[in-house]
Amino acid sequence: MTDVLSGRELAKSIRADVEALAKKLTDEGVVPTLAILVATDDESTAWYVSSIAKAGDKLGVKVVIRTLKPTATAQELQHELIGLALDEAVHGIILQTPLPESVSTADLANYVPIEKDVDGINPHSAGLLVAGQPAFAPATAEAVMELLRHFKVALSGQRVVVIGRSAVVGKPVAQLLLQEDATVTVAHSKTTDLPALSNEADVLVVAVGRSKMVTRGYVRQGTIVIDVGTNTDADGNLLGDVDAESVEGVAGGLTPVPGGVGPVTTALILKHAVLAADQQRR
Ligand code: NAP
Repeated sequence: MTDVLSGRELAKSIRADVEALAKKLTDEGVVPTLAILVATDDESTAWYVSSIAKAGDKLGVKVVIRTLKPTATAQELQHELIGLALDEAVHGIILQTPLPESVSTADLANYVPIEKDVDGINPHSAGLLVAGQPAFAPATAEAVMELLRHFKVALSGQRVVVIGRSAVVGKPVAQLLLQEDATVTVAHSKTTDLPALSNEADVLVVAVGRSKMVTRGYVRQGTIVIDVGTNTDADGNLLGDVDAESVEGVAGGLTPVPGGVGPVTTALILKHAVLAADQQRR
C-alpha cells in the first residue's frame, strides 16, 4: 500500500499559526497585508488568486489584488511594483504568473524588495537561500520541505532526486534539501535515462509540468514521492506529474493532486505575509 501524504492537515495547522500571528499584529495596530499583482485573464489564475484572498480574509490577512491588462508592458508592471514596494501598508508582494507574453519574470523580479518577497522570486532572495541566510524561500519549495517534515521522512544522508530545475521549484527545493543533509541530484529535460536515475532515490520530488509522466518504472519499492505538478486536462481536472495508479503499491508514500503540495503552498504564502509584516514593524 502507498501512503497518501495529504497536505490538508498540515495546511490547517499552518493556517492556525497565521491566524494567531495576524490577530496579534492587528491588536497592535498592524494589519498584515499581501498584494498580488495580476496581469492575465487566465480563468484558473483568477480562481487561484481569489482563493488566496478568501483564505486571507478568514485568517485576518488583508489581500489586495492589483489587476493590470494582459497586454501590460514590463514598464507598467515595474511601475506598479515600485508603488507596492514603497507602500508601507503592504508587507508582502506576489507577482502572479502567467505574465503578459512580452514580459518575463526576470524583467520584474528585482522590483520586489527582499523584505516583501514572500514567494522568493528576487534573485537576491535566491542568493541568500543558497548562502543559508534568512530569506523567504519560494512557497512551493518550502511546502515540499514542510510535507517531508510533517510525515517525518528522513533526509539526512538519503538520496533525493528532484525532477525539474525551475527557479521557483526545482532549484530552491534542491537547496533546502541540501540544508537537511540530503544527497541531492537535480534532473531536467536533458537528463539521460531518467527512470534509472529516479530508481536510485529514497525520496523523489517531481516538478515537471507534464501530466502523469512519472510511472512505475521511475519508482522503486518504498520511495517517498512528492508530486508538485498541477496540470489541467481538457475537462479542467487537476492532474499531477505522477501517475498515481501506476505507482500504487510501489511508492512508500505519495502526495495527492489535488490536496498535497497545493494547499500547503497557499497556507505558506499567507504565513510569509504575516511574518513579513511582523519583521517590518520592528
Ligand atoms: P517549469 O518552469 O516549466 O520547469 C519544468 C522543469 O521540468 C524544467 O526544469 C524542465 O527541464 C523539466 N522537464 C520538462 N520536461 C521534462 C522531461 N521530459 N524530463 C525531465 N525533466 C523535464 O515548471 P515549474 O514552474 O517548475 O512547475 C512544475 C510543475 O509544478 C507545474 O505542473 C506547475 O504547475 C507546478 N507548480 C505547482 C505549484 C503548487 O503550489 N502546487 C506551484 C508551482 C508550480 P529544462 O530545465 O531542461 O527545460
